[in-house]
Amino acid sequence: MSLKKTISEPEIFNISDHQIKKNQLDKEAISIISRLIDAGYEAYIVGGFIRDSLIGVKSKDCDVATNATPEEIKEVIPKTRIIGKRFKIVHARVGKKLIEISTFRSSGKKNIKKSNKGILLRDNNYGSIEDDAFRRDFTINSLYMDTKKMEIIDFVGGFRDLQSGMLKSIGESSKRFIEDPVRMIRAIRFKSKLGFKLDNKLEKGIHRYRHLLSEVPSGRKYEELLKMFLTGNAFSIMTELQNYRITEYLLPMTKNFLEGKKDRRFILNALKDSDKRFHQNKTLTPAFLFAVMLWPALISKIGDMNSKKIKIPRISRIGNLLLKKHNEYCFIPKRVQSSIKEIWEIQVMLLRIPEKANTTLKHKRFRAAFDFLLLREKSGENLGGAGDWWTKKISH
Ligand code: ATP
Ligand code: MG
Repeated sequence: MSLKKTISEPEIFNISDHQIKKNQLDKEAISIISRLIDAGYEAYIVGGFIRDSLIGVKSKDCDVATNATPEEIKEVIPKTRIIGKRFKIVHARVGKKLIEISTFRSSGKKNIKKSNKGILLRDNNYGSIEDDAFRRDFTINSLYMDTKKMEIIDFVGGFRDLQSGMLKSIGESSKRFIEDPVRMIRAIRFKSKLGFKLDNKLEKGIHRYRHLLSEVPSGRKYEELLKMFLTGNAFSIMTELQNYRITEYLLPMTKNFLEGKKDRRFILNALKDSDKRFHQNKTLTPAFLFAVMLWPALISKIGDMNSKKIKIPRISRIGNLLLKKHNEYCFIPKRVQSSIKEIWEIQVMLLRIPEKANTTLKHKRFRAAFDFLLLREKSGENLGGAGDWWTKKISH
C-alpha cells in the first residue's frame, strides 16, 4: 500500500449534506446489508446507485460492497450465486431486481493476472474499504453509503466532483485505461447519461489508448454494448462513440455505414426509438438492436432485399456468415443470433401480402419484425405501403 493511501482519511457527508432519505434507498440492498452486518461483516451501498441518487437520476440496479468474501456472502445469504472468474462477485436476485455484492478489492500484486499489454485479466485480491475505494474507476463511482448512519464515505473526492459535474479517473487515467480499456467506454456512457464533462487527462487518455479496446474479450464487449444502447441514452452515446472514434472497436461492421446518409438515418432513428421506449418502460431486446446495427452490412451483401426473387435460405446463409464475423469482435449469444436472423427473414415475408399474411402473423418474432419494417419506412425506404397494410391488418 502506498503512503498516500495509508494516511488518507475519508470525508464523511451526513444527511444534511447529501439529502438522501432512507426510504429512497433500495430495500432489498438494505436487507442484504443488514444480514451481512448482523453476521459481523461491514457492508455498504456503493457505485451507481449512490451517484444517481445524488443527482436525482433513476438507477437501474444497486451494488453492495462488503468485506465478506464471495464464499462468506453465500453462507450468510444462501439464495445467491457466485459469478465471474476475472472478477468474482455475488448476484442476489430479488424478483426482477439484481443486486451485485462485491468483496472489497485492493490493488495489491498477488492474485492479479495481467496480459503482456498490461490489461488486468484477473483481480480477486481482497482488501479494506479504503483499498476498494481506490481501485474503482471514477471518483463519482466510489461513494459508499453507510445505511445505518446514513452517511456517505468518500476517500477520493467523488462527492465534490459529482457536484461540479466532472468525471475524473481515480489515479492516472492512462494507467487505469491500460489496466482495463472498458473504462474508456464506461466514461463515454457516463458522460452521456449524466451530462458530465470529462476531465482533461481522461479525455487525452481515451484518444491515446482507444486502440486497446481491440483487446477486450468479445463477450464483455457485448455486455457493454447492451448497457450503452438499451438504457435510454443510445442516441447520444452513439454520437460520442463516433466523436471519440471508438465505433470501429465495438461495431466494426456498422462503422462504415454510419457515414452514409441513408443507413445513418436508419440506425439513429432506431436508437432514438429505443431511448423513447426505455423512458416509457417498454421492453427493448438485444436482438432488435443488433438486427438494426448489422442490417446495412446484410443489405450490402444481399443487394435488393425487396426483389421478388429473394429466397429466405439465402438471407439465412449470408446472415450466418455476417454474424460469424461479428462474433470475432463482439460475441452475440446463440439465442439472440437466431432472433436477429428471424427479424431479417420476416422482412421478406412481410412483403408477401396478402397471400402469406396469416402465416407471417403467427410467427413468434412478428411484432419485432413489423416494428423493424416500420423503422425502414420511417427512414426513407419505399416498401409499397406494406407498413400501412400491416397496421390495418393487425388493428382488425
Ligand atoms: P450503472 O449501473 O448505471 O451502469 P455503475 O457505476 O453502478 O453504473 P456497474 O457496472 O454496476 O456500474 O459497477 C458498479 C461499480 O463498480 C461502479 O460504480 C464502479 O465503482 C465499479 N466498477 C465497475 N466497473 C469497473 C471497472 N471496469 N473498473 C473499476 N471499477 C469498476
Ligand atoms: Mg450499478
